[in-house]
Amino acid sequence: MSRSVLIIGGNRGIGHATVRAFAQRGDSVAFTYRTGEPEPDLLFLGAMPVRCDITDPEQVESAFREVEADQGPVEVLVANAGISRDNLLLRMSEEDFAAVLETNLTASYRLAKRATRSMLKAKRGGRIVLVSSAVALRGEAGQTNYAASKAGLIGFGRSLAREIGSRQITVNIVTPGLTDTAMAAALPEDRVKEILRDVPLGRIGNPEEIASTISFLASEEAAYITGAVVPVDGGISMGH
Ligand code: NDP
Repeated sequence: MSRSVLIIGGNRGIGHATVRAFAQRGDSVAFTYRTGEPEPDLLFLGAMPVRCDITDPEQVESAFREVEADQGPVEVLVANAGISRDNLLLRMSEEDFAAVLETNLTASYRLAKRATRSMLKAKRGGRIVLVSSAVALRGEAGQTNYAASKAGLIGFGRSLAREIGSRQITVNIVTPGLTDTAMAAALPEDRVKEILRDVPLGRIGNPEEIASTISFLASEEAAYITGAVVPVDGGISMGH
């Protein structure tokens, strides 16, 4: 059965692979982009582009309205957009701390709240998947802001899972490890080598490997999974 899916930050990296995974399952997929133009391969698959900066509540509201008008109430929300602004704590500005929290955590609250409202109204259950990070579990020098935002998503998601579970809306959190996207490309080569020494599988992940887990958590087969933190990280966070 085709569902109404909204992937936030779907034009690039992990989000892009996620849009492809859902579209190939036959779902009606909308995706947000903030900069640039929608990728042609996603348009070719029939996915609907919606321009939206998730730090602006008005843009979030109008994005949901646009999607609802085209494909009905959102039944699956994937909150994937995220940014990093790394620095050691003593050099980290208030601005960089707040910006990362705003995009990664506060905007996810905004998106999940809007999606929950319409899922409850539609009374058909639903799926919310939040994209966190292995860094939320392990911590990472230079990423106090990013780790705080991603760990916040775990507490947020689990609390929400308890609030809305009785309505058959699941909320799960995926924690990817280092994944081959623009975000990872911004890291110095030495740092990447250092991280990979800690990865039991010994390699970087690819966006499709994260997308397939997100897609599973949103599937009918995953109906009894909620509040789970699911690592897709080559083993780097095991034991955390
Ligand atoms: P990319 O930098 O490739 O993609 C980030 C996405 O977030 C882009 O689509 C971007 O949109 C969107 N975005 C950023 N800020 C906003 C905003 N204010 N409003 C709307 N959209 C926004 O990174 P990845 O694909 O790697 O990251 C996807 C998610 O996975 C992130 O949450 C990231 O933290 C997480 N993650 C990534 C890991 C990695 O190693 N790559 C590891 C662990 C977690 P646009 O480009 O249009 O601005």
